[in-house]
Amino acid sequence: MAVNKEAYQRIATYCSRAGATLVAVSKTKPIEDILALYELGHRDFGENYVQELVSKQSQLPADIRWHFIGHLQTNKVKYIAPFVHLIHGIDSLKLLQEVNKQAAKCDRSIDVLLQVHIAQEDTKFGLDEQELQALLSFPQLPAMQHVQIRGLMAMASFTNDEEQLKAEFAAAKQIFDRITYNSVLVKSPHLLSMGMSNDYELAIAAGSNVVRVGSLLFGARHYPQ
Ligand SMILES: *Cc1c(COP(=O)(O)O)cnc(C)c1O
Repeated sequence: MAVNKEAYQRIATYCSRAGATLVAVSKTKPIEDILALYELGHRDFGENYVQELVSKQSQLPADIRWHFIGHLQTNKVKYIAPFVHLIHGIDSLKLLQEVNKQAAKCDRSIDVLLQVHIAQEDTKFGLDEQELQALLSFPQLPAMQHVQIRGLMAMASFTNDEEQLKAEFAAAKQIFDRITYNSVLVKSPHLLSMGMSNDYELAIAAGSNVVRVGSLLFGARHYPQ
């Protein structure tokens, strides 16, 4: 088993002192690895793929808080709506409407984060500030009773350049501050999800209060060919 319990204790302590939620990103990793952290008391786990998440959820304890951190397709929302704790990557009005609709069917309210684009690479998903404002100004939004927008999710560039990472995280924090201040539709407690294995300390220093850490806890991922 590849779970690094020492790294877990260290990172969990770091996050808890900083007031940040540690989401253990378990994509591609087996049930036993998730249970190993569960037994240490961990409850927040993140997955990127709907099918994998649904399968794991059905085999694991019901008190796990499942975070969906991948790119969610509209036609798959229905599979995770019954149980998902937080959807991190909402990047369109259409997707938000579908989450609202599926949550209503389950008689739930689902917490979501809007994905903001900060990376210099243009491969990463997300909305720029103007698009965020446009989404938050949509006239039907206040009537969506089954979604709660809690804040933003951001992914920095894939780089070791600390200055660049700091600049990108700072940009995300500024946008986060503006939208949480300006929009009554962003409900507290406000969440800013940014930071991964490579950069979670920098992200927390910049104001992140949710970090998504995978490989430091579970080891490198191996994708099937
Ligand atoms: C896989 C993934 C992570 C975790 O990445 P690590 O570098 O392994 O910590 C975090 N966030 C998102 C959106 C991911 O897809």
